[in-house]
Amino acid sequence: MSHDLVVSARFGIANSHTLIVAQAHGAYTQLSTLLAQPPQSLVQTVIDSGLRGKGGGGAPTGAKWQLLEGQAKPRYLVVNADESEPGTFKDRHIIEHDPHLLIEGILLSCHALEAKAAYIYMRGEYRFWHDRLQSALDEAYGAGILGAHSCDITLHRGAGAYICGEKSALLESLEGYRGQPRLKPHRPEPEWLWGRATIVNNVETIASIPYILYKGAQAYRAMGTKESAGTLLFGLSGHVNRPGVYELPFGMPLLEVIETYGGGIRDGRALKAVIPGGASTPVLTAEQAKNATLSYEGMKLAGSALGTGGMIIMDESTSMVDALDNLLAFYRHESCGQCTPCREGTHWASSIVHDIARRQPRSDALPTLKNIARTINGQTICVFGPAVADVINGFLRNFPQEFA
Ligand code: SF4
Repeated sequence: MSHDLVVSARFGIANSHTLIVAQAHGAYTQLSTLLAQPPQSLVQTVIDSGLRGKGGGGAPTGAKWQLLEGQAKPRYLVVNADESEPGTFKDRHIIEHDPHLLIEGILLSCHALEAKAAYIYMRGEYRFWHDRLQSALDEAYGAGILGAHSCDITLHRGAGAYICGEKSALLESLEGYRGQPRLKPHRPEPEWLWGRATIVNNVETIASIPYILYKGAQAYRAMGTKESAGTLLFGLSGHVNRPGVYELPFGMPLLEVIETYGGGIRDGRALKAVIPGGASTPVLTAEQAKNATLSYEGMKLAGSALGTGGMIIMDESTSMVDALDNLLAFYRHESCGQCTPCREGTHWASSIVHDIARRQPRSDALPTLKNIARTINGQTICVFGPAVADVINGFLRNFPQEFA
């Protein structure tokens, strides 16, 4: 399928991470023209493009940006680069191969939002990518692209907590507090950093902005589907012949992507299951995967969610009990501990499934697991808890015979 590359056009060019090469291949060429336009016209183009957040939630970016209308200045933009979801490894490719695309996206977004400064919060373990992005920022400051007449960009490294990818926990951490999610208001409003109105967007979302503003909303809308416009960096990991990251338009059949881009299942085996959008999305059986398409609406129809587009492929040799055991060990470790149902529930669920995996289950293991999932759901401060409940329910619902 032929389509434009929104964020990966310069991937594969030698030294594409350097300013001189990025500029030779189009970076910053329309920056000054776009910065001379009224901020609201940039926001309108983003609204018209149908861009949705590419960090997992899929919220419309333009509508989110409009939340800053009428808010006092200074305002801030925060870029979420705390990519820690198991199965998700796309943002680091943008930072590795094209950090200047991200910087240009931040400059344009700050202009649209009339934001004074941007903060990039990066996953603690991403040392290499941190250093690469810092070098690109230094180059941009040295060349005068960043500086007196632009917003300032500060790169901040986290300390290795998955929950800091949740935007309010990220802001707490950035402010210097323990990285725990905040209670959410019941009406749409911006986030708040140091008491100032703030927008939080993920790396790929912001890296999509230059394409949209250079080529226009319709060029972006021409790709993908009506409800899921444009492209996404899809990740393929697990039992495929060619794991990797591929930029594709929304709406492609899941199995076609596994075959065409992933090179099919390893060793000619059969597909057993797919976790379609990062570990926190419900697992699909091979049967459910047959008719699934890679869009927000397509994945909902299939019984899961698109999430980050990071697909974990499992072949027929996989024990689904071991797979859930592995995932729950992660959630148990990463629960921030604020809410009792999540803190205790992830611990108990992990222990129970681990005992099943060791063939030493308690007699009421399955009803207790279902009860734990029910108790977590809707009783927590952030979506981590309900996501764990969805993961447990997905495995029990779709592979009951293995757990029995
Ligand atoms: Fe922390 Fe879990 Fe509560 Fe989220 S749901 S705030 S991760 S304890």
